[in-house]
Amino acid sequence: MNYQQTELQPGLYLVATPIGHARDITLRALDVLAAADILAAEDTRTLQKLLQIHGIPREGRALVAYHDHSSDAAVQRLAGEIRQGRSVAYTSEAGSPLISDPGYRLVAELAREGLPVTVIPGPSAAVAALSLAGLPTDRFLFLGFPPAKAAARLSWLADQAHSGATQVIYESPRRIGELLEALCETHGPGRPAALCRELTKTYETVLRGTVSELAEMLRETPARGECVLVVAGTEAPEAGEEDVETALVNAMERLSMKDAVKEVAESLGMPRKTVYQMALSLRQED
Ligand code: SAM
Repeated sequence: MNYQQTELQPGLYLVATPIGHARDITLRALDVLAAADILAAEDTRTLQKLLQIHGIPREGRALVAYHDHSSDAAVQRLAGEIRQGRSVAYTSEAGSPLISDPGYRLVAELAREGLPVTVIPGPSAAVAALSLAGLPTDRFLFLGFPPAKAAARLSWLADQAHSGATQVIYESPRRIGELLEALCETHGPGRPAALCRELTKTYETVLRGTVSELAEMLRETPARGECVLVVAGTEAPEAGEEDVETALVNAMERLSMKDAVKEVAESLGMPRKTVYQMALSLRQED
């Protein structure tokens, strides 16, 4: 038996669960899942499977579904159980609850009512990817999922292009190629990044390179499985306007405007869009 019999105080217990490897779960998480009066889960089947793997009996305990589309009545039902002295363990489908996963409304409401909430920390794909990426981790920015539509995604990324913090992005394998192409525009093709796939699973892989190199790799072999993209922050100081203009004037003497923009953006690590706009103004001035 991997868990200990424990008595739980009334309250909500946010329990982190594995992001792939079923044994990536803490002993305390198992204790809480074994002891809670009520089991609440984003996906009740996933939780049942986890209980089975770790030999934790359900023993007639209520197993209720909760996600962010659940009604206010569902939040109030759980709050009511806690008020009556019961303990509720909550798990999201994988990893840490509330991290691009449901639970926010529930925690906010319980906190507002002064009811006890605690966390049983554990895996999260964002932190696992940061550990593996080989990019600076002194400052990082968790961005979650980008907007699905191209224009909204570009402006969402552009807002972060000049941040010095390493950026962590969740994306589905279907859109990760488009995300990398968009990053070439907003962050510049030379920005270092790491694509972390299937973390803790059999086919865990990390592809490291610039965003344009990663985009190229995916054009050849599209990504499969769950993905986290980690993108380096910008290295201060960026090239000044005059440096960019000088580089552009030189490059445009040798190359077409399109190729000059590409060369300058890559060599100065700047967004292609910004360099393109400067090239247009230079041409107009001529
Ligand atoms: N709550 C989870 C956490 O703590 O990481 C995140 C849930 S979010 C709905 C699911 C996304 O997390 C996936 O689309 C993927 O971007 C990322 N993810 C989850 N598990 C992963 C894994 N094993 N490898 C890579 N990315 C993963």
